[in-house]
Amino acid sequence: MAMSRAVWDDLPRATKQDLKRSAERIGNTVHSLAGPNFTRGSAGVERYAYTPEYARTVAYVQRAFDAIGFRTWEDAVGNFVAQNAPRGTPVVGLGSHLDSVRGGGRWDGTLGVVVALEVCHLLTQYDLDVPVRVISFVEEEGSGFGQLLLGSRIAAGLIDEDDLRSTYRAVDDGRSFWDHAVLAGHQPHRWRECAETLDDLFGWIEIHIEQGRQLEDAGHQIGIVELISGYVQGDIELTGRVDHAGTTPMRLRSDAVAMAAEVVIEAEKLAATAGPDTVATVGEIDVTPGIINVVPGEARLSIDVRGPKDSTVQEVVDGILIAAEQAAARRSGRMSYVERQRVGVTPMSSVVVDALTDSANGYGFEHLKLPSGAAHDTMSVARRAPCGMLFIPCVAGISHAPNEEADPRDAALAAWITLDAIVRLHARSRT
Ligand SMILES: [Zn+2]
Repeated sequence: MAMSRAVWDDLPRATKQDLKRSAERIGNTVHSLAGPNFTRGSAGVERYAYTPEYARTVAYVQRAFDAIGFRTWEDAVGNFVAQNAPRGTPVVGLGSHLDSVRGGGRWDGTLGVVVALEVCHLLTQYDLDVPVRVISFVEEEGSGFGQLLLGSRIAAGLIDEDDLRSTYRAVDDGRSFWDHAVLAGHQPHRWRECAETLDDLFGWIEIHIEQGRQLEDAGHQIGIVELISGYVQGDIELTGRVDHAGTTPMRLRSDAVAMAAEVVIEAEKLAATAGPDTVATVGEIDVTPGIINVVPGEARLSIDVRGPKDSTVQEVVDGILIAAEQAAARRSGRMSYVERQRVGVTPMSSVVVDALTDSANGYGFEHLKLPSGAAHDTMSVARRAPCGMLFIPCVAGISHAPNEEADPRDAALAAWITLDAIVRLHARSRT
């Protein structure tokens, strides 16, 4: 490739010493952001939109970008942006998210922002002229409002104003997303302007822990994502009849939890036989009234179905809903279903995948091409820009847990590959 040869000649090549320094910076920052100032919980990391811990985390990252001369701002709902070029300049995007699941680890999301910071640090250090925008999307995990990828979906125009005003409510206090955004000093009435956060991107790369164990099993430090599984999330409401647990004979009951149990088992079976990488999870169950000596009258189940093929995901969802109807009918109950959200399978751009592959090959780093089973903000960004993702291993594939662990040396490799790839993408954008 003639183009990349010329680009390659201009690039600083990472020495062992460079990689060591990058690993130290990344490791120190990730460690700092797991400190008591930046988390609500004592085990692992717990921070989500519009909490003081979250605001302090964004402020920390903002200071780091200020220090290397980037302009920083937040959009109308609090997506954080740092950029080294005037607005309107075509830029390559990097980033991820700074929020966590409740009781999560220090690497998920934060890694992608911290590696982006390291890439920008290197750009500045080597005086490389690549216009970059770093974005940290607010509320990726849905810990605050039960909605995945919320900040990026707002930016991508994938939500309704009604959802922000009333449907999306805080898990902690039931107040609307809108009210909380205002209380945190944002301007949700200008949410449409968040589209500008995704303007002018000629490419986008998100660095993330794998959250699986393919890389670890293969002994590779780098994974290049080819597609992100699509997902459907919704709530099944099963209604039976409240009765006395001591005096109501079994044959006369309409037990909502017994209905729910059938649905859970059927969801597991359907996904297990649906094909590779298709999965279904019932992560939330609410029982009403939820008392030991009362036959449950109502049960709400969340369903979360994902997979690399949209039609297969839909077949599993349909199967679960049929099972729920039948389980309710057998027990003289009723069922209803409300979908929370769906995002289709998102293939990565061959242009970005090729740039990452060439960069990894240029360094001689062994890598694996793999799908992402987890959802990422990149799914939203892909509506507006050519996208790619880089994975590094996490120990035993564990994530969304306090004992999530990754190796800063792998993160340093990811930073240098990303640096190389954005130089290639920038050169390509000008031809
Ligand atoms: Zn994440």
